[in-house]
Amino acid sequence: MSDLKYCQGPKCHTYYTQDRLKGTKGSKTYQTRRRSSLYYGNGNFCDQRCMYDWFDKHGTQAVNHFGRLNEAKHLTEENAWIKDYDWDSNYENRTYVFRNSITREQRPLTEDQYNDSNYTLNTGE
Ligand SMILES: [Zn+2]
Repeated sequence: MSDLKYCQGPKCHTYYTQDRLKGTKGSKTYQTRRRSSLYYGNGNFCDQRCMYDWFDKHGTQAVNHFGRLNEAKHLTEENAWIKDYDWDSNYENRTYVFRNSITREQRPLTEDQYNDSNYTLNTGE
């Protein structure tokens, strides 16, 4: 039994499920889930409810700690390129294009470039 992790949900142990009920007769308790793999919130929570419980309790404090956004971020023209495709009139062939979502400029794109998730015209964030 190595590398078992506890769900970080602050109320995990208060949800009445059979898998949380542990111990021997007369001293059973509902316990925080412990698993080799947790699939929510970067592997920290057993389910969405526990993830949101954590956020309800700590979210504001966490945002303040890691840096609250106090002004709008801007996505500029240089980073507004999206990959898209158009169908021909028979819906048989696709024509792939880069389309700038601000300027509406279009540039040619190959299918391979479309499928390559690393290929982009965007230069930054
Ligand atoms: Zn949980």
